[in-house]
Amino acid sequence: MSAVPSPSSFVPAADAERLAALERFDILDTPAEPAFDRIAHLVRLIFEVETALVTMIDAHRQWYKAALGTSLTEVPLGDSFCQYTLAAAKPLVVPDASLDARFSVNRHVTAPDGIRFYAGVPLVTSDKQIIGTICAIDRTPRSFSERELAILCELAEVVMSELELRQLATSDGLTGIATRRAFKAEAEKYVALARRHRSQLSVVTFDVDHFKKVNDAYGHAGGDMVLKAITRAAQDGLRKSDLLGRLGGEEFAAVLPDADAAAAMAVAEKLRYAFRGLDFPGSRPPIKVTASFGVATLDPGRDDLDSVLLKADEALYEAKRSGRNKSLAWRGATTATVADPVDRRRVLKAGRLVFNARRSTLDCTVRALWENGAEIQVASPADIPEEVTLEVVSSGHSWDARVVQRRPTSLELAFG
Ligand code: GH3
Ligand code: MG
Ligand code: MG
Repeated sequence: MSAVPSPSSFVPAADAERLAALERFDILDTPAEPAFDRIAHLVRLIFEVETALVTMIDAHRQWYKAALGTSLTEVPLGDSFCQYTLAAAKPLVVPDASLDARFSVNRHVTAPDGIRFYAGVPLVTSDKQIIGTICAIDRTPRSFSERELAILCELAEVVMSELELRQLATSDGLTGIATRRAFKAEAEKYVALARRHRSQLSVVTFDVDHFKKVNDAYGHAGGDMVLKAITRAAQDGLRKSDLLGRLGGEEFAAVLPDADAAAAMAVAEKLRYAFRGLDFPGSRPPIKVTASFGVATLDPGRDDLDSVLLKADEALYEAKRSGRNKSLAWRGATTATVADPVDRRRVLKAGRLVFNARRSTLDCTVRALWENGAEIQVASPADIPEEVTLEVVSSGHSWDARVVQRRPTSLELAFG
């Protein structure tokens, strides 16, 4: 134990307004994007450092939107340099971390070839909330001039402008269909109408199978061409009154008003066949793609948009797990079905922990779900016993679980 204040005692990470600001950007766990990769690349070029990061900080971790010079994609907040930048709410320069009491015991510093130099600048929203950082890191001690710091501050502004511009965009630059944000806003209206009129509504989510291999084999441009073709095929197969959106890299969703489960399944199968039949003249070897589909129907009394999307997603992951290139409908009490913990599915769900023979309950936030476990945030993990029940409020799912890992602001649970 060092005399340095425990990072977990820093308030800013858990600040609800800050997290709400972060959530508005809807950027956590989205795929890498050239705009941010380019900024990270500039940081490396300009400052001649090994590592450049554009990061977002949620309540329990620092997640990398762009990362050059590291294979990590996120770190627990307690391990990060940037929590100090967040707490100080201003740029932080550490010329030699091994000589700095805050960092000399940090495992990234004490590791062989550990970090020495750090310069980080907060990413500040127009309403003055810090949602993340941009930073330059190196394994060699170095100085950082005022001019260099001024440049890094400008790059932080560029990141924020990019983020704010994207918020205004309602259509996706590559495919022209609704962005995740626009899709969700519009879909909320469809769901509200269906609930009011007690009419049928189904959602179909789909995800291209092994899309990474398409990029690997044909390059990013080849991947982009496939995404555009898939979008066009999906539009052709849907009705004008259906709503199609791109939720993430190669993940899409459609809302089908007035469609029951059978009709929605028929649509999913129609799209699946259409995708399978796509050809890309001139590609060698010929590009062939398939996708997996999840189908769920709104329970007007219980579901909101998020819960019906979650159901479709669960069915989609079941389709992936059971071989891909198929459509599956949500069948009730299925649990998250991802076999490989690497494939943990990030969510942002209100949850409840029940323990002490159901005498105690505690609100929590569910941040990841996989086949037999979950990662949750709670205010004080230390107070939670080993055996708990986790309930996901929106879907009504519940799992008996065991605490397998405790971190400063989160717990990992194993189901069963
Ligand atoms: P699975 O069958 O399990 O879905 O495998 P997958 O490879 O499709 O899934 P994964 O989510 O691991 O990889 C998705 C890839 O999509 C990774 C990312 O680089 C790529 N990607 C995301 N957005 C874009 C984009 O706009 N253009 C291109 N070309 N690729 C993208
Ligand atoms: Mg995929
Ligand atoms: Mg995917």
